[in-house]
Amino acid sequence: MNSYDLIIVGAGIAGKATALRLAQLGLKILHVAPNFDPGIHCNDDLTWDSRIYALSGSSQQLLSDIHVWESLDPSRMQVVSDMRIFGDSGQANDELHFSAYSATVNQLAWIVESSHIEKTLDTACKFQGNIKRLTDTVASFVSRNDSVTVTMQSGETYSAKLLLAADGSKSSIREKLQIETPINDYEQTAVVANFSCELDHQDTACQWFLEDGEILALLPLPNKKLSMVWSAKTDHATQLKELDGEALCLAVMAAAQGQVRSRTGQLKMLTSPQGFPLRRMRAQRIIAPDECPRIILIGDAAHVMHPLAGQGLNLGLRDVACLGKLLEEKESFREIDDPVLLRRYERARHGDTDILLFTTDKLQKLFSSNSSALKTARNWGMGIVNRSRFLKRQLIKKALS
Ligand SMILES: Cc1cc2nc3c(=O)[nH]c(=O)nc-3n(C[C@H](O)[C@H](O)[C@H](O)COP(=O)(O)OP(=O)(O)OC[C@H]3O[C@@H](n4cnc5c(N)ncnc54)[C@H](O)[C@@H]3O)c2cc1C
Repeated sequence: MNSYDLIIVGAGIAGKATALRLAQLGLKILHVAPNFDPGIHCNDDLTWDSRIYALSGSSQQLLSDIHVWESLDPSRMQVVSDMRIFGDSGQANDELHFSAYSATVNQLAWIVESSHIEKTLDTACKFQGNIKRLTDTVASFVSRNDSVTVTMQSGETYSAKLLLAADGSKSSIREKLQIETPINDYEQTAVVANFSCELDHQDTACQWFLEDGEILALLPLPNKKLSMVWSAKTDHATQLKELDGEALCLAVMAAAQGQVRSRTGQLKMLTSPQGFPLRRMRAQRIIAPDECPRIILIGDAAHVMHPLAGQGLNLGLRDVACLGKLLEEKESFREIDDPVLLRRYERARHGDTDILLFTTDKLQKLFSSNSSALKTARNWGMGIVNRSRFLKRQLIKKALS
């Protein structure tokens, strides 16, 4: 009775998408989490989740493959047609402009609320007969020759061929396995909030690298609304979070020597600011060590990055897509827990994760440096990239993948 093909721990977007993708392959899944409800229910034009994601083409593809994309409410989604990234020189030529039109694509990304994706995934999971849900937490697990046995806090035990950890950056499964996970604290907190704006955002996402190493992004939402991610130094983030609505709007509009205001016009705060401490983390292994095989890390349990490129969830959903494809296309003589398959997963995810973590980390460092030589070089570099159609096409190709 208590035996499954897979036990998935964690019911964030990565956990739910994994459960759905693998259940659709006919695998029997036990999905374990302390709570399955995304919690925020935004149903009208005034209530918007301040946690939003810029989704790339690969995420859209996965969500389409698992029949979730078509269930998302189009009135709560915003396409991004243009991206404008500004350096801190205040000069026009340190701007990088990416446009869907010149890249001959329909859009560069989609902006969707976190709770909207979670709720839609949640409904799809509830209707999937191969998923059994268990509201509990994992107390311990042992991996034996032919299965992994998991004991819950409630004392019940369950076994499966594989255990998937999608339990986020503080993954208790990863900790129990003692997988080394170096952490680089950026000493910044992302302050997020939503605003309505006076001027039309023209489907454009803007990001300013500010003089003091902070980064301010304003992402478009439907009907003249914007979602802000201000990656601010910890102390400054605390101050921003303590401001009342009017004062926060003034601070945002005044940022980047007033450039923000000239793009947005008057702002009005719609959701109170929330803060997320920023760090980079990379588990040294994403499959359990040989003495405890049968365990796989997915999403933020495996990697966490700075949000400046808006790629953390996209990367996690590529983990899901990769695992789904490997299990779907496995040779018929292999079981799903064949060590060869686990190693294929680890190898397949290595390059993508390395490149993104490396690039976002270096960009963060480059733009937080106070060296005047670096400041000149980075703004000059942006101008060069902006003038090169080839480089821009390559960057867009990578961002859309
Ligand atoms: C400010 C900010 C902006 C971002 N913007 C973007 C963006 O635009 N695009 C993008 O792609 N990414 C973005 N990201 C990254 C993105 O938020 C994460 O990569 C993504 O949420 C990770 O999803 P996940 O399901 O792996 O983990 P989580 O969302 O952390 O989910 C983990 C789940 O596991 C549960 N859990 C925790 N402990 C346990 C336990 N012991 N047992 C069982 N369950 C447990 C948690 O409750 C949670 O439900 C952003 C991040 C930040 C901070």
